[in-house]
Amino acid sequence: MAQQRDALATARDPLAVLREVFGHKSFRGQQDQVVRHLVDGGDAVVLFPTGAGKSMCYQIPAICRPGVGIVISPLIALMRDQVEALRQAGVAAAALNSSLNAEESADVRRQLRNGELDLLYVAPERVATPGFANMLSGIDIALFAIDEAHCVSQWGHDFRPEYRELSKLTELFPGVPRIALTATADPTTREDIIERLGLETAEVFTTSFDRPNISYSIVERDKARDQLLAFLAAHKGSSGIVYCLSRAKVEDTADWLSSKGIPALPYHAGLPAETRSANQDAFLKEDNICMVATVAFGMGIDKPDVRYVAHMDLPASIEAYYQETGRAGRDGQPADAWMSYGMADVVQRRRMIDEGNAPDEVKRLEHGKLNALLGVCETAECRRKAILNHFGEAHPGNCGNCDTCRSPVESWDGTEAAIKALAAIYRTGMRFGAAHIIDVLMGKSTEKVERFGHHNQKVFGAGADLDAKVWQSVLRQLTASGLIVVDHANHGALTLGEGAHAVFKRERQVILRKDRPKKTVEVRRSLERAANVPPHAQPLFEALREARTRIAKQQGVPPYVIFHDATLRAMALAVPRHPHDMLNLPGVGQAKLDRYGEAFLAVVAEVAA
Ligand code: ZN
Repeated sequence: MAQQRDALATARDPLAVLREVFGHKSFRGQQDQVVRHLVDGGDAVVLFPTGAGKSMCYQIPAICRPGVGIVISPLIALMRDQVEALRQAGVAAAALNSSLNAEESADVRRQLRNGELDLLYVAPERVATPGFANMLSGIDIALFAIDEAHCVSQWGHDFRPEYRELSKLTELFPGVPRIALTATADPTTREDIIERLGLETAEVFTTSFDRPNISYSIVERDKARDQLLAFLAAHKGSSGIVYCLSRAKVEDTADWLSSKGIPALPYHAGLPAETRSANQDAFLKEDNICMVATVAFGMGIDKPDVRYVAHMDLPASIEAYYQETGRAGRDGQPADAWMSYGMADVVQRRRMIDEGNAPDEVKRLEHGKLNALLGVCETAECRRKAILNHFGEAHPGNCGNCDTCRSPVESWDGTEAAIKALAAIYRTGMRFGAAHIIDVLMGKSTEKVERFGHHNQKVFGAGADLDAKVWQSVLRQLTASGLIVVDHANHGALTLGEGAHAVFKRERQVILRKDRPKKTVEVRRSLERAANVPPHAQPLFEALREARTRIAKQQGVPPYVIFHDATLRAMALAVPRHPHDMLNLPGVGQAKLDRYGEAFLAVVAEVAA
């Protein structure tokens, strides 16, 4: 390590560090500007989406500037992986957190005092303690990096009170550059971060929040488990997350998937801590686990090769959807975000809001957020456009990588149908659920219809021209748009919402999307697609993956810490024969070449003989 450190000491130029340490030829996007701003001693706020290379923005200046870079990171697991990845690249990095014993902790402090560290990761709760200022007094500090900075905001999705203490850094260490980083796309949270951390004068670096490698699809629910199975069949041999709303559903779904031969594990806050940590570990270290989880899972999971995120239930908002699906494809390789969605989701989410303890004002806000997400679910336009527009970012649409772009959705004038449906609800006294309303519309003489005399209503049979599936779709879309309101206090009875009157009077046109026939639900062969490896290079790619898994197991680290999929893909295509060929590959720096060059060259020689 000492020898590598000497090599680093001479490599003060950011681009040289990028090449020699991290093995990349050039900076991506605005990384270059951020790095130079920090190296020159400026403060920065970095708002980049996941996968845009945020950590380089502070790691490289920390290496270039004299002294140690202090990184505040919210989770031990996250620190552990980052430190491991840096060490593999030959960087002197360490973490101070509650997982260390007294001896290990003393060792890190000794390295810090001796000026041996380039980067030190610490938990936010340490910053407020008197010991923290003492520990750093008399030590050269290159910069402070506040990772996952949205944790400072109550508006964010992962509020951590101890982040509030980080505003003290300026008083304690005036003159040391600070950089706050987050992947939050929500403008309210962004403003709050800047204010809370006192970074009003910092330069703000922001970029498009588009994640072009993520493909979005939202399908109308129709036997959700079968839909999920068909989706997962296209993702055999890769890692992914299936989100469910309740703990019970998490366990049921994981059991069911296991019975179907899919390596699935459950994760939710109600499981014993040992089970959670064992399952999370398996997810990180194996490369084919399907993690079935509540939203308790994901924060701080820095696994780059998650190939899909599936939602079995509707998330709470577009912000939550973006965050959760954003855990896929951090390595920039193709990934799938998939959701099965139906009317029950709308009913369930509305009830959760209404029955919560929040003040009315907050409930209104939550209903508004839910409505915005329903707009994305029901849009006949590009999903990506709808999501980015919500975050205030213009997008031309036609992304070509969402379900509505790949197979355009037809829309139809549903005004007549809406009038019939609303009339059926009104005429039957706004006391019945969707199934009964559909029976009335279709003219089905059920026992319930007879009992309430609904066969005598004028609307009885008025909708016989459409089938039950279409009526379900109509009711779902009218509910999503607020023209129908579900009365939770009255067993989910459908009632008329604001705006229904205007529809009756034909002052408001209702455009509906045509649900897709089930057969057209896309199932794509995705292992090659996911890794983006052409068939001729597939055998070598697989052999390299196996070698990586073997080496990772020996070291007890996740495979991506050795090499990312993108590096293995480049290796499989370039077929390197000599160490200097390896250095040309993205993600291969000198330290990694020294460690792994021989092993991987041997695999290439054997398979590509
Ligand atoms: Zn699109």
